[in-house]
Amino acid sequence: MSFHPKKGFKLVTIVSFIIVVSIVLTMLISIHSSYSVSRQSLVDNYLSGNYDRAMDLSSATGDLLVRIQNSVNSMASIWQRNETMDPALLNDLYATHHEYFESISIVRKDHTLIEIAPSNKKALQVGTNVDSLIVRSVMKLREPVITDPFIGKTGNLLILVTSPLFDKNNNYYGYIGGTIYLHNSNILQLILQQKYESNGSYIFAVDAKGNVIFHPDATMIGKNIASNDAVWKVIAGLNGSIEYTDNNGKQFYAGYAYNMSSGWGIVSQTPADIVNEPLNNLLESSILQSLPLLFITLAAGWILTYLVVRPLHMLAEYSNRMLKEWSMDDMPPIRSATYEIKLLYSSLRMTARQMQKYIRKLHTETALDGLTGLANRRNFDATLEAWCLEEEPFSMIMLDIDHFKLVNDTYGHPMGDQVIQFLAATMRNVSREGDLCFRYGGEELGILLRGANKERAYRVAERLRHIVSNTPSPSGERITISLGIIGFPEQGTMPEELIAKADEALYTSKREGRNRTTVYAERVLAAD
Ligand code: GH3
Ligand code: MG
Ligand code: MG
Repeated sequence: MSFHPKKGFKLVTIVSFIIVVSIVLTMLISIHSSYSVSRQSLVDNYLSGNYDRAMDLSSATGDLLVRIQNSVNSMASIWQRNETMDPALLNDLYATHHEYFESISIVRKDHTLIEIAPSNKKALQVGTNVDSLIVRSVMKLREPVITDPFIGKTGNLLILVTSPLFDKNNNYYGYIGGTIYLHNSNILQLILQQKYESNGSYIFAVDAKGNVIFHPDATMIGKNIASNDAVWKVIAGLNGSIEYTDNNGKQFYAGYAYNMSSGWGIVSQTPADIVNEPLNNLLESSILQSLPLLFITLAAGWILTYLVVRPLHMLAEYSNRMLKEWSMDDMPPIRSATYEIKLLYSSLRMTARQMQKYIRKLHTETALDGLTGLANRRNFDATLEAWCLEEEPFSMIMLDIDHFKLVNDTYGHPMGDQVIQFLAATMRNVSREGDLCFRYGGEELGILLRGANKERAYRVAERLRHIVSNTPSPSGERITISLGIIGFPEQGTMPEELIAKADEALYTSKREGRNRTTVYAERVLAAD
Protein backbone atom coordinates (compact mmCIF):
# COMPACT_ATOMS: atom_id res chain seq x y z
CA MET A 1 0.00 0.00 0.00
CA SER A 2 1.35 3.43 -0.81
CA PHE A 3 0.13 6.88 -0.07
CA HIS A 4 1.22 9.84 -2.15
CA PRO A 5 -0.23 13.14 -1.01
CA LYS A 6 -0.02 15.89 -3.59
CA LYS A 7 2.83 18.24 -2.84
CA GLY A 8 1.39 21.20 -0.93
CA PHE A 9 2.72 23.99 1.24
CA LYS A 10 3.87 22.92 4.65
CA LEU A 11 1.78 24.18 7.54
CA VAL A 12 4.86 25.76 9.09
CA THR A 13 5.44 27.68 5.85
CA ILE A 14 1.86 28.90 5.67
CA VAL A 15 1.67 29.92 9.32
CA SER A 16 5.11 31.58 9.16
CA PHE A 17 4.03 33.38 6.01
CA ILE A 18 0.84 34.63 7.68
CA ILE A 19 2.82 35.77 10.72
CA VAL A 20 5.48 37.52 8.63
CA VAL A 21 2.90 39.25 6.45
CA SER A 22 0.81 40.39 9.39
CA ILE A 23 3.81 41.65 11.36
CA VAL A 24 5.26 43.50 8.37
CA LEU A 25 1.84 44.92 7.46
CA THR A 26 1.23 46.07 11.01
CA MET A 27 4.59 47.81 11.06
CA LEU A 28 4.04 49.40 7.66
CA ILE A 29 0.60 50.61 8.66
CA SER A 30 1.83 52.08 11.94
CA ILE A 31 4.81 53.72 10.21
CA HIS A 32 2.53 55.05 7.50
CA SER A 33 -0.03 56.40 9.95
CA SER A 34 2.63 58.07 12.09
CA TYR A 35 4.11 59.46 8.88
CA SER A 36 0.73 60.85 7.81
CA VAL A 37 0.02 62.32 11.23
CA SER A 38 3.47 63.94 11.40
CA ARG A 39 3.13 65.18 7.86
CA GLN A 40 -0.30 66.68 8.49
CA SER A 41 0.83 68.41 11.68
CA LEU A 42 3.96 69.74 9.95
CA VAL A 43 1.91 70.96 7.00
CA ASP A 44 -0.66 72.51 9.34
CA ASN A 45 2.19 74.23 11.19
CA TYR A 46 3.57 75.70 8.01
CA LEU A 47 0.14 76.73 6.75
CA SER A 48 -0.83 78.46 9.98
CA GLY A 49 2.66 79.94 10.46
CA ASN A 50 2.58 81.40 6.96
CA TYR A 51 -0.95 82.66 7.46
CA ASP A 52 0.00 84.44 10.71
CA ARG A 53 3.05 85.97 9.08
CA ALA A 54 1.09 87.13 6.02
CA MET A 55 -1.54 88.73 8.29
CA ASP A 56 1.18 90.50 10.36
CA LEU A 57 2.98 91.79 7.34
CA SER A 58 -0.18 92.78 5.55
CA SER A 59 -1.18 95.09 8.38
CA ALA A 60 2.41 96.32 8.78
CA THR A 61 2.61 97.05 5.04
CA GLY A 62 -0.82 98.74 5.15
CA ASP A 63 0.30 100.93 8.05
CA LEU A 64 3.49 101.79 6.21
CA LEU A 65 1.64 102.74 3.03
CA VAL A 66 -0.69 104.96 5.05
CA ARG A 67 2.36 106.62 6.64
CA ILE A 68 3.98 107.11 3.24
CA GLN A 69 0.78 108.48 1.77
CA ASN A 70 0.39 110.82 4.76
CA SER A 71 3.91 112.13 4.34
CA VAL A 72 3.20 112.98 0.69
CA ASN A 73 -0.10 114.60 1.71
CA SER A 74 1.71 116.77 4.24
CA MET A 75 4.21 117.84 1.55
CA ALA A 76 1.21 118.83 -0.58
CA SER A 77 -0.08 120.96 2.28
CA ILE A 78 3.30 122.70 2.51
CA TRP A 79 3.19 123.45 -1.25
CA GLN A 80 -0.33 124.82 -0.89
CA ARG A 81 0.77 127.50 1.60
CA ASN A 82 2.70 129.40 -1.08
CA GLU A 83 1.55 127.50 -4.15
CA THR A 84 5.19 126.84 -4.80
CA MET A 85 8.04 124.92 -3.21
CA ASP A 86 11.52 126.22 -2.73
CA PRO A 87 14.06 123.63 -4.08
CA ALA A 88 15.96 123.81 -0.79
CA LEU A 89 12.80 123.03 1.15
CA LEU A 90 12.03 120.12 -1.17
CA ASN A 91 15.55 118.83 -0.56
CA ASP A 92 15.00 119.13 3.18
CA LEU A 93 11.72 117.27 2.89
CA TYR A 94 13.45 114.62 0.82
CA ALA A 95 16.19 114.34 3.45
CA THR A 96 13.65 113.63 6.20
CA HIS A 97 11.86 111.08 4.03
CA HIS A 98 14.70 109.57 2.08
CA GLU A 99 14.07 106.11 3.62
CA TYR A 100 10.69 106.17 1.92
CA PHE A 101 11.53 107.63 -1.45
CA GLU A 102 14.09 107.44 -4.17
CA SER A 103 13.05 110.89 -5.27
CA ILE A 104 10.32 113.49 -4.72
CA SER A 105 9.01 115.48 -7.64
CA ILE A 106 6.38 118.09 -8.43
CA VAL A 107 4.65 117.68 -11.80
CA ARG A 108 2.36 120.26 -13.30
CA LYS A 109 -0.88 119.28 -14.97
CA ASP A 110 0.73 119.84 -18.40
CA HIS A 111 3.09 116.92 -17.44
CA THR A 112 6.07 119.22 -16.93
CA LEU A 113 8.48 118.36 -14.14
CA ILE A 114 8.59 121.51 -11.97
CA GLU A 115 10.85 120.40 -9.10
CA ILE A 116 12.79 117.29 -8.17
CA ALA A 117 14.80 116.25 -5.12
CA PRO A 118 17.44 115.17 -4.30
CA SER A 119 19.10 117.99 -6.26
CA ASN A 120 22.56 116.41 -6.07
CA LYS A 121 21.77 113.36 -8.25
CA LYS A 122 19.02 114.54 -10.47
CA ALA A 123 17.97 111.80 -12.83
CA LEU A 124 15.63 114.12 -14.64
CA GLN A 125 16.00 117.74 -15.57
CA VAL A 126 13.47 120.28 -14.34
CA GLY A 127 11.27 121.14 -17.31
CA THR A 128 11.21 117.63 -18.73
CA ASN A 129 7.86 116.35 -19.98
CA VAL A 130 7.05 113.21 -17.97
CA ASP A 131 3.86 112.34 -19.80
CA SER A 132 2.84 108.69 -19.47
CA LEU A 133 -0.30 106.63 -19.00
CA ILE A 134 0.31 106.43 -15.28
CA VAL A 135 0.90 110.20 -14.95
CA ARG A 136 -2.32 110.84 -16.90
CA SER A 137 -4.33 108.47 -14.73
CA VAL A 138 -2.93 110.12 -11.57
CA MET A 139 -3.91 113.54 -12.92
CA LYS A 140 -7.31 112.34 -13.94
CA LEU A 141 -8.09 111.04 -10.45
CA ARG A 142 -6.90 114.22 -8.65
CA GLU A 143 -6.66 112.43 -5.33
CA PRO A 144 -3.96 110.66 -3.28
CA VAL A 145 -2.81 107.66 -5.32
CA ILE A 146 -0.38 104.77 -4.98
CA THR A 147 0.21 103.69 -8.59
CA ASP A 148 0.70 100.31 -10.14
CA PRO A 149 4.34 99.46 -10.89
CA PHE A 150 5.52 101.08 -14.11
CA ILE A 151 8.74 101.85 -15.95
CA GLY A 152 9.54 105.50 -15.36
CA LYS A 153 11.37 107.95 -17.64
CA THR A 154 14.65 106.84 -16.07
CA GLY A 155 14.02 103.25 -17.07
CA ASN A 156 13.45 102.04 -13.51
CA LEU A 157 10.51 99.96 -12.34
CA LEU A 158 8.78 102.08 -9.75
CA ILE A 159 5.60 102.98 -8.00
CA LEU A 160 4.53 106.51 -7.38
CA VAL A 161 2.86 107.79 -4.20
CA THR A 162 1.15 111.05 -5.07
CA SER A 163 -0.95 113.78 -3.57
CA PRO A 164 -2.84 116.31 -5.73
CA LEU A 165 -1.93 120.02 -5.59
CA PHE A 166 -4.71 122.62 -5.63
CA ASP A 167 -4.21 126.39 -5.62
CA LYS A 168 -6.13 128.76 -3.36
CA ASN A 169 -8.98 128.88 -5.81
CA ASN A 170 -9.09 125.16 -5.64
CA ASN A 171 -7.84 124.81 -9.19
CA TYR A 172 -5.90 121.64 -9.90
CA TYR A 173 -2.22 122.41 -10.33
CA GLY A 174 -0.66 119.00 -10.60
CA TYR A 175 0.77 116.60 -8.09
CA ILE A 176 3.65 116.03 -5.74
CA GLY A 177 4.86 112.45 -5.76
CA GLY A 178 7.45 110.25 -4.16
CA THR A 179 8.97 107.37 -6.11
CA ILE A 180 9.77 103.93 -4.75
CA TYR A 181 12.14 102.04 -7.03
CA LEU A 182 11.16 98.43 -6.73
CA HIS A 183 14.51 97.05 -7.80
CA ASN A 184 16.53 99.28 -5.49
CA SER A 185 16.60 98.86 -1.77
CA ASN A 186 13.43 100.43 -0.48
CA ILE A 187 11.21 100.79 2.54
CA LEU A 188 9.05 97.77 1.59
CA GLN A 189 12.08 95.52 1.65
CA LEU A 190 12.86 96.73 5.12
CA ILE A 191 9.55 95.42 6.34
CA LEU A 192 9.08 92.37 4.13
CA GLN A 193 12.61 91.08 3.89
CA GLN A 194 13.20 90.91 7.61
CA LYS A 195 10.95 87.89 7.72
CA TYR A 196 12.75 86.13 4.92
CA GLU A 197 13.75 82.79 6.43
CA SER A 198 16.64 80.42 6.00
CA ASN A 199 14.36 77.35 5.72
CA GLY A 200 13.23 78.46 2.29
CA SER A 201 10.10 80.29 3.40
CA TYR A 202 9.71 83.74 1.89
CA ILE A 203 7.34 86.62 1.49
CA PHE A 204 6.15 88.41 -1.60
CA ALA A 205 3.75 91.26 -2.11
CA VAL A 206 1.46 91.93 -5.06
CA ASP A 207 -0.62 94.94 -5.94
CA ALA A 208 -4.34 94.81 -6.58
CA LYS A 209 -3.79 93.50 -10.13
CA GLY A 210 -1.39 90.77 -9.19
CA ASN A 211 1.80 92.64 -10.16
CA VAL A 212 4.72 91.70 -7.95
CA ILE A 213 5.74 94.67 -5.79
CA PHE A 214 8.21 92.84 -3.65
CA HIS A 215 9.87 89.47 -4.07
CA PRO A 216 13.19 88.08 -2.74
CA ASP A 217 13.88 86.98 -6.32
CA ALA A 218 14.45 90.35 -8.02
CA THR A 219 13.60 88.96 -11.48
CA MET A 220 10.03 88.39 -10.30
CA ILE A 221 9.43 92.04 -9.40
CA GLY A 222 7.05 93.74 -11.83
CA LYS A 223 5.69 90.45 -13.24
CA ASN A 224 2.01 89.75 -13.15
CA ILE A 225 1.29 86.47 -11.36
CA ALA A 226 -2.47 86.83 -10.90
CA SER A 227 -2.95 83.21 -12.06
CA ASN A 228 -1.05 81.90 -9.04
CA ASP A 229 -3.56 80.13 -6.75
CA ALA A 230 -2.58 82.09 -3.65
CA VAL A 231 -2.42 85.39 -5.55
CA TRP A 232 -5.82 85.31 -7.23
CA LYS A 233 -7.42 84.56 -3.89
CA VAL A 234 -5.62 87.33 -2.07
CA ILE A 235 -6.36 89.98 -4.70
CA ALA A 236 -9.98 88.85 -4.56
CA GLY A 237 -9.83 90.13 -1.00
CA LEU A 238 -9.47 86.80 0.83
CA ASN A 239 -7.26 85.81 3.75
CA GLY A 240 -6.30 82.19 4.33
CA SER A 241 -3.84 79.41 3.72
CA ILE A 242 -3.46 77.01 0.83
CA GLU A 243 -1.39 74.06 -0.38
CA TYR A 244 -0.82 74.79 -4.07
CA THR A 245 1.40 74.12 -7.05
CA ASP A 246 2.70 77.07 -9.05
CA ASN A 247 3.10 77.33 -12.83
CA ASN A 248 6.58 75.75 -12.62
CA GLY A 249 5.18 72.68 -10.89
CA LYS A 250 6.64 73.67 -7.55
CA GLN A 251 4.50 72.92 -4.51
CA PHE A 252 4.05 75.41 -1.66
CA TYR A 253 2.37 75.76 1.69
CA ALA A 254 1.20 79.38 1.64
CA GLY A 255 -0.59 81.86 3.85
CA TYR A 256 -2.06 84.99 2.23
CA ALA A 257 -3.50 88.20 3.58
CA TYR A 258 -5.27 91.06 1.82
CA ASN A 259 -4.67 94.67 2.79
CA MET A 260 -7.86 96.58 2.32
CA SER A 261 -6.45 100.11 2.39
CA SER A 262 -3.97 99.52 -0.44
CA GLY A 263 -5.57 96.56 -2.22
CA TRP A 264 -2.21 94.80 -1.96
CA GLY A 265 -1.78 91.17 -1.02
CA ILE A 266 0.97 89.59 1.05
CA VAL A 267 1.85 85.94 0.52
CA SER A 268 4.13 84.03 2.88
CA GLN A 269 5.04 80.57 1.60
CA THR A 270 7.24 77.54 2.23
CA PRO A 271 8.34 75.16 -0.53
CA ALA A 272 6.84 71.70 0.10
CA ASP A 273 10.14 69.89 -0.40
CA ILE A 274 11.44 71.63 2.68
CA VAL A 275 8.67 69.89 4.61
CA ASN A 276 9.21 66.60 2.81
CA GLU A 277 12.87 66.34 3.68
CA PRO A 278 12.44 66.14 7.48
CA LEU A 279 9.46 63.87 6.88
CA ASN A 280 11.52 61.52 4.76
CA ASN A 281 14.22 61.58 7.41
CA LEU A 282 11.58 60.76 9.98
CA LEU A 283 10.29 57.93 7.82
CA GLU A 284 13.77 56.58 7.26
CA SER A 285 14.70 56.75 10.93
CA SER A 286 11.42 55.19 12.05
CA ILE A 287 11.93 52.32 9.60
CA LEU A 288 15.51 51.86 10.79
CA GLN A 289 14.43 52.02 14.42
CA SER A 290 11.69 49.47 13.93
CA LEU A 291 13.95 47.03 12.04
CA PRO A 292 15.47 45.36 15.15
CA LEU A 293 12.01 45.09 16.67
CA LEU A 294 10.75 43.67 13.39
CA PHE A 295 13.46 41.01 13.36
CA ILE A 296 12.92 40.12 17.00
CA THR A 297 9.17 39.85 16.45
CA LEU A 298 9.69 37.79 13.32
CA ALA A 299 12.10 35.46 15.11
CA ALA A 300 9.71 35.09 18.05
CA GLY A 301 6.84 34.47 15.66
CA TRP A 302 8.83 31.88 13.80
CA ILE A 303 9.92 30.08 16.97
CA LEU A 304 6.34 30.05 18.22
CA THR A 305 5.13 28.69 14.90
CA TYR A 306 7.85 26.10 14.94
CA LEU A 307 6.95 24.99 18.46
CA VAL A 308 3.27 24.73 17.67
CA VAL A 309 3.43 23.33 14.18
CA ARG A 310 6.51 21.11 14.28
CA PRO A 311 4.89 18.35 16.40
CA LEU A 312 2.04 18.34 13.91
CA HIS A 313 4.53 18.14 11.06
CA MET A 314 6.30 15.23 12.79
CA LEU A 315 3.01 13.42 13.33
CA ALA A 316 2.05 13.87 9.71
CA GLU A 317 5.46 12.67 8.52
CA TYR A 318 5.31 9.71 10.85
CA SER A 319 1.85 8.62 9.83
CA ASN A 320 2.85 8.95 6.19
CA ARG A 321 5.95 6.82 6.78
CA MET A 322 3.82 4.32 8.66
CA LEU A 323 1.57 3.94 5.66
CA LYS A 324 4.36 3.87 3.12
CA GLU A 325 6.86 1.61 4.81
CA TRP A 326 4.83 -0.26 7.39
CA SER A 327 7.42 0.78 9.92
CA MET A 328 5.94 1.54 13.27
CA ASP A 329 8.83 1.07 15.60
CA ASP A 330 10.24 4.61 15.55
CA MET A 331 7.42 6.78 16.71
CA PRO A 332 9.21 10.04 17.58
CA PRO A 333 8.71 11.47 21.06
CA ILE A 334 6.55 14.53 20.56
CA ARG A 335 6.14 17.22 23.17
CA SER A 336 3.41 19.76 22.66
CA ALA A 337 1.16 21.87 24.81
CA THR A 338 -1.57 21.83 22.20
CA TYR A 339 -4.54 19.66 23.16
CA GLU A 340 -5.33 18.50 19.62
CA ILE A 341 -1.73 17.54 18.96
CA LYS A 342 -1.55 15.56 22.21
CA LEU A 343 -4.75 13.75 21.30
CA LEU A 344 -3.55 13.03 17.79
CA TYR A 345 -0.21 11.82 19.11
CA SER A 346 -1.71 9.36 21.60
CA SER A 347 -4.27 8.01 19.16
CA LEU A 348 -1.65 7.61 16.45
CA ARG A 349 0.62 5.80 18.91
CA MET A 350 -2.21 3.51 19.96
CA THR A 351 -3.05 2.79 16.34
CA ALA A 352 0.60 2.06 15.64
CA ARG A 353 0.78 -0.40 18.54
CA GLN A 354 -2.39 -2.16 17.49
CA MET A 355 -1.10 -2.40 13.96
CA GLN A 356 2.25 -3.73 15.16
CA LYS A 357 0.50 -6.54 17.03
CA TYR A 358 -1.72 -7.29 14.09
CA ILE A 359 1.16 -7.32 11.66
CA ARG A 360 3.25 -9.56 13.87
CA LYS A 361 0.37 -12.03 14.02
CA LEU A 362 -0.11 -11.76 10.28
CA HIS A 363 3.61 -12.35 9.78
CA THR A 364 3.64 -15.58 11.76
CA GLU A 365 0.45 -16.71 10.10
CA THR A 366 1.78 -16.17 6.66
CA ALA A 367 5.20 -17.58 7.50
CA LEU A 368 4.24 -20.85 9.19
CA ASP A 369 2.61 -23.93 7.89
CA GLY A 370 -0.71 -24.52 9.61
CA LEU A 371 -0.38 -28.31 10.03
CA THR A 372 3.19 -28.68 11.19
CA GLY A 373 4.17 -25.27 12.55
CA LEU A 374 7.24 -25.45 10.36
CA ALA A 375 8.14 -22.68 7.94
CA ASN A 376 5.75 -22.72 5.00
CA ARG A 377 6.68 -22.77 1.35
CA ARG A 378 6.66 -18.99 1.00
CA ASN A 379 8.86 -18.59 4.07
CA PHE A 380 11.23 -21.27 2.76
CA ASP A 381 11.49 -19.59 -0.65
CA ALA A 382 12.26 -16.21 0.95
CA THR A 383 14.82 -17.69 3.33
CA LEU A 384 16.55 -19.66 0.61
CA GLU A 385 16.76 -16.59 -1.58
CA ALA A 386 18.12 -14.50 1.28
CA TRP A 387 20.75 -17.14 2.15
CA CYS A 388 21.81 -17.37 -1.47
CA LEU A 389 22.31 -13.60 -1.53
CA GLU A 390 24.30 -13.66 1.72
CA GLU A 391 26.82 -16.02 0.08
CA GLU A 392 27.49 -17.84 3.36
CA PRO A 393 27.79 -21.65 2.92
CA PHE A 394 24.79 -23.77 3.87
CA SER A 395 23.27 -27.13 3.06
CA MET A 396 19.74 -28.31 2.35
CA ILE A 397 17.99 -31.59 3.08
CA MET A 398 14.84 -32.45 1.10
CA LEU A 399 12.82 -35.45 2.25
CA ASP A 400 9.64 -37.32 1.37
CA ILE A 401 7.74 -40.01 3.28
CA ASP A 402 7.89 -43.42 1.61
CA HIS A 403 4.61 -44.90 0.47
CA PHE A 404 2.64 -42.30 2.33
CA LYS A 405 -0.45 -43.03 0.30
CA LEU A 406 -0.61 -46.34 2.16
CA VAL A 407 -0.80 -44.54 5.52
CA ASN A 408 -3.66 -42.41 4.22
CA ASP A 409 -5.36 -45.33 2.67
CA THR A 410 -4.97 -47.57 5.73
CA TYR A 411 -5.52 -45.14 8.63
CA GLY A 412 -7.29 -42.28 6.97
CA HIS A 413 -6.29 -38.77 6.12
CA PRO A 414 -6.38 -37.34 9.69
CA MET A 415 -3.96 -40.03 10.84
CA GLY A 416 -1.83 -39.16 7.81
CA ASP A 417 -1.77 -35.58 9.10
CA GLN A 418 -0.63 -36.76 12.53
CA VAL A 419 2.14 -38.74 10.91
CA ILE A 420 3.31 -35.63 9.08
CA GLN A 421 3.22 -33.74 12.41
CA PHE A 422 5.26 -36.51 14.03
CA LEU A 423 7.86 -36.25 11.30
CA ALA A 424 7.96 -32.44 11.68
CA ALA A 425 8.55 -32.73 15.44
CA THR A 426 11.38 -35.18 14.86
CA MET A 427 12.94 -32.82 12.31
CA ARG A 428 12.82 -29.99 14.82
CA ASN A 429 14.61 -32.21 17.35
CA VAL A 430 17.51 -33.03 15.09
CA SER A 431 18.01 -29.48 13.76
CA ARG A 432 19.94 -26.67 15.41
CA GLU A 433 18.99 -23.16 16.23
CA GLY A 434 19.54 -21.10 13.09
CA ASP A 435 18.44 -23.95 10.84
CA LEU A 436 15.09 -23.71 9.10
CA CYS A 437 12.73 -26.72 9.05
CA PHE A 438 10.10 -26.31 6.36
CA ARG A 439 7.21 -27.99 4.67
CA TYR A 440 7.73 -27.83 0.96
CA GLY A 441 4.30 -29.28 0.16
CA GLY A 442 2.26 -32.43 0.96
CA GLU A 443 4.49 -34.89 2.80
CA GLU A 444 7.63 -33.41 1.29
CA LEU A 445 9.62 -31.48 3.89
CA GLY A 446 13.15 -30.23 4.40
CA ILE A 447 15.80 -28.51 6.49
CA LEU A 448 18.06 -25.57 5.62
CA LEU A 449 21.23 -25.96 7.69
CA ARG A 450 23.00 -22.68 8.23
CA GLY A 451 26.78 -22.81 7.94
CA ALA A 452 26.72 -26.61 7.43
CA ASN A 453 28.67 -28.50 4.79
CA LYS A 454 27.25 -31.61 3.12
CA GLU A 455 28.99 -33.93 5.57
CA ARG A 456 27.21 -32.42 8.54
CA ALA A 457 23.97 -32.31 6.62
CA TYR A 458 24.41 -35.98 5.83
CA ARG A 459 24.92 -36.83 9.50
CA VAL A 460 21.77 -34.89 10.46
CA ALA A 461 19.81 -36.59 7.66
CA GLU A 462 20.91 -40.03 8.73
CA ARG A 463 20.08 -39.36 12.36
CA LEU A 464 16.65 -38.22 11.33
CA ARG A 465 16.13 -41.18 9.07
CA HIS A 466 17.21 -43.59 11.86
CA ILE A 467 15.01 -41.98 14.49
CA VAL A 468 12.00 -41.95 12.18
CA SER A 469 12.45 -45.51 11.03
CA ASN A 470 12.98 -46.77 14.59
CA THR A 471 10.20 -44.85 16.29
CA PRO A 472 6.56 -45.93 15.93
CA SER A 473 4.59 -43.22 14.23
CA PRO A 474 1.16 -42.07 15.57
CA SER A 475 -0.45 -44.87 13.50
CA GLY A 476 1.54 -47.40 15.51
CA GLU A 477 3.51 -48.36 12.44
CA ARG A 478 6.94 -47.16 11.58
CA ILE A 479 7.48 -45.05 8.54
CA THR A 480 10.55 -44.49 6.48
CA ILE A 481 11.71 -41.45 4.61
CA SER A 482 13.92 -40.78 1.59
CA LEU A 483 16.30 -37.83 1.63
CA GLY A 484 18.41 -35.77 -0.78
CA ILE A 485 21.19 -33.32 0.10
CA ILE A 486 22.80 -30.42 -1.71
CA GLY A 487 25.43 -27.87 -0.63
CA PHE A 488 25.68 -24.20 -1.36
CA PRO A 489 27.46 -22.91 -3.32
CA GLU A 490 28.77 -26.20 -4.84
CA GLN A 491 25.38 -27.16 -6.34
CA GLY A 492 24.58 -23.66 -7.58
CA THR A 493 23.78 -20.20 -6.42
CA MET A 494 20.20 -19.89 -7.64
CA PRO A 495 17.29 -21.18 -5.49
CA GLU A 496 15.59 -22.99 -8.38
CA GLU A 497 18.74 -24.87 -9.27
CA LEU A 498 19.35 -25.85 -5.65
CA ILE A 499 15.78 -27.11 -5.19
CA ALA A 500 15.91 -29.05 -8.45
CA LYS A 501 19.16 -30.71 -7.48
CA ALA A 502 17.94 -31.56 -3.96
CA ASP A 503 14.81 -33.11 -5.51
CA GLU A 504 16.99 -35.01 -7.93
CA ALA A 505 19.03 -36.42 -5.02
CA LEU A 506 15.80 -37.24 -3.13
CA TYR A 507 14.37 -39.11 -6.09
CA THR A 508 17.61 -40.93 -6.52
CA SER A 509 17.02 -42.24 -2.97
CA LYS A 510 13.48 -43.26 -3.98
CA ARG A 511 14.68 -44.87 -7.13
CA GLU A 512 17.33 -46.80 -5.35
CA GLY A 513 14.93 -48.39 -2.87
CA ARG A 514 13.79 -45.66 -0.49
CA ASN A 515 14.70 -45.22 3.24
CA ARG A 516 18.04 -43.71 2.31
CA THR A 517 19.94 -40.46 1.97
CA THR A 518 21.54 -39.27 -1.26
CA VAL A 519 24.12 -36.50 -1.30
CA TYR A 520 24.01 -34.75 -4.61
CA ALA A 521 27.15 -35.10 -6.66
CA GLU A 522 27.79 -34.33 -10.27
CA ARG A 523 27.49 -38.07 -10.58
CA VAL A 524 24.80 -38.72 -8.00
CA LEU A 525 26.07 -41.09 -5.31
CA ALA A 526 23.90 -43.38 -3.33
CA ALA A 527 24.50 -44.27 0.27
CA ASP A 528 22.89 -46.39 2.92
P1 GH3 B 1 6.54 -42.50 -2.59
O1 GH3 B 1 7.28 -43.42 -1.72
O2 GH3 B 1 6.86 -42.65 -3.99
O3 GH3 B 1 6.67 -41.07 -2.13
O4 GH3 B 1 5.04 -42.93 -2.40
P2 GH3 B 1 3.87 -42.07 -1.85
O5 GH3 B 1 2.71 -42.89 -1.63
O6 GH3 B 1 4.33 -41.32 -0.67
O7 GH3 B 1 3.62 -41.17 -3.08
P3 GH3 B 1 3.50 -39.63 -3.15
O8 GH3 B 1 4.59 -39.05 -2.39
O9 GH3 B 1 3.39 -39.27 -4.58
O10 GH3 B 1 2.10 -39.44 -2.46
C1 GH3 B 1 1.79 -38.39 -1.61
C2 GH3 B 1 0.53 -38.60 -0.93
O11 GH3 B 1 0.49 -37.88 0.27
C3 GH3 B 1 -0.62 -38.16 -1.78
C4 GH3 B 1 -1.50 -37.41 -0.86
O12 GH3 B 1 -2.74 -37.97 -0.69
C5 GH3 B 1 -0.82 -37.49 0.48
N1 GH3 B 1 -0.81 -36.25 1.11
C6 GH3 B 1 -0.26 -35.09 0.62
N2 GH3 B 1 -0.44 -34.10 1.51
C7 GH3 B 1 -1.10 -34.64 2.59
C8 GH3 B 1 -1.56 -34.13 3.82
O13 GH3 B 1 -1.42 -32.99 4.13
N3 GH3 B 1 -2.17 -34.95 4.69
C9 GH3 B 1 -2.37 -36.23 4.41
N4 GH3 B 1 -2.97 -37.02 5.29
N5 GH3 B 1 -1.99 -36.73 3.23
C10 GH3 B 1 -1.35 -35.98 2.33
MG1 MG C 1 5.88 -39.98 -0.46
MG1 MG D 1 5.49 -37.00 -2.00
